[in-house]
Amino acid sequence: MYATRIARVRARMAEVGIDALLLSVGPDLPYLTGYEAMPLERLTMLVLPRTGDIQLVVPRLEAPRVTRRPELFAIVEWDETDDPIAVVAAMIRRSARRVAIGDHTWARFVLDLQRAVPSCVFSRASEIVSPIRMVKDAAEVEALTRAAHAVDAIAHGMRSVPFAGRTELDVHRELVERMLAAGHERANFAIVAAGEHAASPHHEPSAARVIAPGDLVLCDFGGTMDGYCSDITRMFHVGEIPAEISDVYSVLVEAQEAGVRAARVGTACEEVDAASRAVIAAAGFGEFFVHRVGHGIGTEAHEDPYLVAGNDRELEAGHAFSVEPGIYFPGRFGMRLEDIVVATADGPERLNVAPRDIAIVA
Ligand code: ZN
Ligand code: ZN
Ligand code: ZN
Repeated sequence: MYATRIARVRARMAEVGIDALLLSVGPDLPYLTGYEAMPLERLTMLVLPRTGDIQLVVPRLEAPRVTRRPELFAIVEWDETDDPIAVVAAMIRRSARRVAIGDHTWARFVLDLQRAVPSCVFSRASEIVSPIRMVKDAAEVEALTRAAHAVDAIAHGMRSVPFAGRTELDVHRELVERMLAAGHERANFAIVAAGEHAASPHHEPSAARVIAPGDLVLCDFGGTMDGYCSDITRMFHVGEIPAEISDVYSVLVEAQEAGVRAARVGTACEEVDAASRAVIAAAGFGEFFVHRVGHGIGTEAHEDPYLVAGNDRELEAGHAFSVEPGIYFPGRFGMRLEDIVVATADGPERLNVAPRDIAIVA
């Protein structure tokens, strides 16, 4: 699997004229080698030339954590008193002119490398790796599906949990605990936003805001399970739902449905956004839908492709992304509905199956 991915990366390097790829912290390194670098002041860097041997420069104390794959890459350990920038610079100085470096690489290492090899021109590794990482294979789609079903079960379970009298932070903690209990190795976020707070799309759960009867509560949560991310948004209402909220919500449901329906192979990312946005605009709420309709998802919670106006990239089979329109009335209430969708040759496939209506809770 790693060998295939590396071969694809090298083909793309040849296509766009990149001589060497340098990967440090972030998701590209584990995607290609199975090893995730610690976010440390000690440099870890994969030096992947277009042809020739691949080397993983790693601090000696981290080396025991690396799964050895000698058929793919050699390990070059550096000691506490060595200069790892000099080690990497020596590997690329003569052979590389155009270098792509991981988007998450710490600025200090990028700046030091630029100084060490002034003859090299640096660009972003995402231009090489993203188009490849975006297309999920069957095993990756399966992993995303398992993660999606785990949070579906949580969204479902929360429908019979009392909300009133609890703080947003308390419900947040329950979501985090449920994600870990459901097999996620990590909870990445759990937004709980009650009433007027939900008008801020990325509201930070508050220890002071007590959820009360009449509150519409937004829960947007996700984590990482077997390396792949989940991300779901569902709405809860304490007590009977007023007509205004159910009217606006039915627009949102229709907008999300339109976005999902539009997400066919060959459709531009921006068209998915436009399809969803058109429904909300037609209902007169256009100015209250203040973000793009979705983001790619995989080993990162947010990654390419972004479903946003201006992105004319066409969807391919295996692209995985959220469709999550929202309507936010400042000072009053807000709502969002989010599912993860995979584009397939047979059309868009939703990975999330939890009920999409507003749950009435106590
Ligand atoms: Zn978000
Ligand atoms: Zn979300
Ligand atoms: Zn999302």
